[in-house]
Amino acid sequence: KSIHSRANWSSDSESDSSEAECLYHVVLLGDHGVGKSSLANIFAGIQEKDAHKHIGEDTYEGTLMVDGEETTLVVMDTWETEKQEEDEKWVQDYCMQVGNAYIIVYSITDRSSFESASELRIQLRRIRQAENIPIILVGNKSDLVRSREVAVEEGRACAVVFDCKFIETSASLHHNVHELFEGIVRQIRLRRDSKEI
Ligand code: GDP
Ligand code: MG
Repeated sequence: KSIHSRANWSSDSESDSSEAECLYHVVLLGDHGVGKSSLANIFAGIQEKDAHKHIGEDTYEGTLMVDGEETTLVVMDTWETEKQEEDEKWVQDYCMQVGNAYIIVYSITDRSSFESASELRIQLRRIRQAENIPIILVGNKSDLVRSREVAVEEGRACAVVFDCKFIETSASLHHNVHELFEGIVRQIRLRRDSKEI
């Protein structure tokens, strides 16, 4: 696993050093198979060809124009729950520490992934107690209507309890994926702007 810190790649970015405060790490969390990598790949593809850099095996940088303002996200698809070996544990700990925002993904066709999402939210709250971190709960695979195990209302209710945003996406159909990343940018800005006051 290659996880790149800003220090590793900022040297080759010529234009954005003055906008360093506009760069945020967004970590994808969720069970294996829910669609994290699919969402990350779409994020990478959303960008103009040369406006994003593939900066690591599972890490993507891209700049989004949202509400007339540019924000650069570093999307990290480094979470992997299948691997429980000790030397992979640090990656999970790192993921929990490094994010400026989190996307917690479950599959609407897999109730156990929905339960895992709740556990991840609780874990995150425990580790990052004092912070008010933006989190979006994502019910992915909304195209698989006939295999649905988690109702939209359940996802929405869960998000209310956990005090986070909620969206259903389909990585296959690219439905709501752009909206998801725009939503993360808006959540980050809300926190930032309220700190300035
Ligand atoms: P990850 O383990 O969370 O990274 O999940 P992947 O992105 O590798 O996706 C796991 C499988 O689910 C792959 O076969 C994807 O093609 C499929 N998949 C991901 N998103 C969707 C979706 O929105 N709809 C459908 N039908 N399949 C999806
Ligand atoms: Mg993956």
